Amino acid sequence: MTRSWVPGADESLFGLDNLPYGVFSRPGEPPRVGVRVGDHVLDLAPVLHDEVFAAPSLNPFLARGRTAWQGTRARLRTLLADGRVRDRAADGPTDEGSSGSAGNRAAVEPHLIPLDQVTMHLPVEVADYVDFYASLEHASNLGRIFRPDEEPLKPNWRHLPVGYHGRAGTVVVSGTPIRRPCGQRMPGPSFGPSARLDIEAELGFVVGAPTRLGDRAGAFEDHVFGVTLLNDWSARDIQAWEYVPLGPFLGKSFATSVSPWITPLEALHGARVAGREQDPAPMDYLRRDAPWGLDLTLRVELNGETISTPSYRDMYWTPDQMLAHMTVNGASLRTGDLFASGTISSEGAFGSLIEVTWNGAEPIKLADGTTRAFLEDGDTVTISAVAPGGIGLGEVTGRITPAT
Ligand code: CA
Repeated sequence: MTRSWVPGADESLFGLDNLPYGVFSRPGEPPRVGVRVGDHVLDLAPVLHDEVFAAPSLNPFLARGRTAWQGTRARLRTLLADGRVRDRAADGPTDEGSSGSAGNRAAVEPHLIPLDQVTMHLPVEVADYVDFYASLEHASNLGRIFRPDEEPLKPNWRHLPVGYHGRAGTVVVSGTPIRRPCGQRMPGPSFGPSARLDIEAELGFVVGAPTRLGDRAGAFEDHVFGVTLLNDWSARDIQAWEYVPLGPFLGKSFATSVSPWITPLEALHGARVAGREQDPAPMDYLRRDAPWGLDLTLRVELNGETISTPSYRDMYWTPDQMLAHMTVNGASLRTGDLFASGTISSEGAFGSLIEVTWNGAEPIKLADGTTRAFLEDGDTVTISAVAPGGIGLGEVTGRITPAT
């Protein structure tokens, strides 16, 4: 670990090996791009003398591509390091001994702002939003619940990463209140507020570098900038009534929450693990010499109480395969595209209430003595995640407000 002069950074989940990006504002000022270090956000535009970071979203920076992402990260690690950084900065002066480090601190420290003095915003102007269904455990459980008389998995499931196009315009930043949706619902036909409001704990992958229409995506690392936490709020009674034969629509589109922080892919190299064994072997365009997943452990809290700790490492389809599949037909990528993993469920640890309570049949009991099958008005759900080496993905939280 490279140590930082920023107070508290080394002991936090946001040290120099992490450095996630977000968009923040101070009272009365427009939003701009920053990087989290410990419990501070670093205002990048004045530190790096680059107006791309004065934008109200990360998109202009993401569009610059991988070489720029790497150069900026290396430069920030140098500026924030307490002493010498082993991986040399791609541009700008490197710190040559203690005088360099002290000089960096003097120049940078005025632009460190405590997190409790800022408001965080949606970090990316979301272009297109896709949600996959990549957990074997989750897909099997939902198959058993929604289609109890059939095989849990459809015949296509082990041949391709199943997904659908969602609603980019309703992706909201963590902390945004979630109003209980109304709609046509089960038992159908009926209309009213959803009585089976649920969560889905997921990872979201943020695309930086685009492709041209007709082209397939190249290497994953050339296109995908980073990873965020995502909660795909789901109204199960609306979903169950509407989803046949075309899939999720209004049961999902009312809101999708994301963490304000995007952890660069580079920061998660140490979290890479071998991909799960796939049987049958995937088709050529999905096959990789060394498929990889990510060793991330999530925590799902309901009103402050942990109800599940699913692991991402056991996901069946990898992020790389999801990107390859999403573009195999020539559909182009745009800067700001967001694609999510689907609910992360692992053996005995589930990323949705419909699995935790088995469609409401086994409600959970909370510390205050109440029980939950699905979410009540006033409930707050918070999802967080950590990677090996003390790297945090922040959290995505939301509170349910009554239907109107
Ligand atoms: Ca989902």
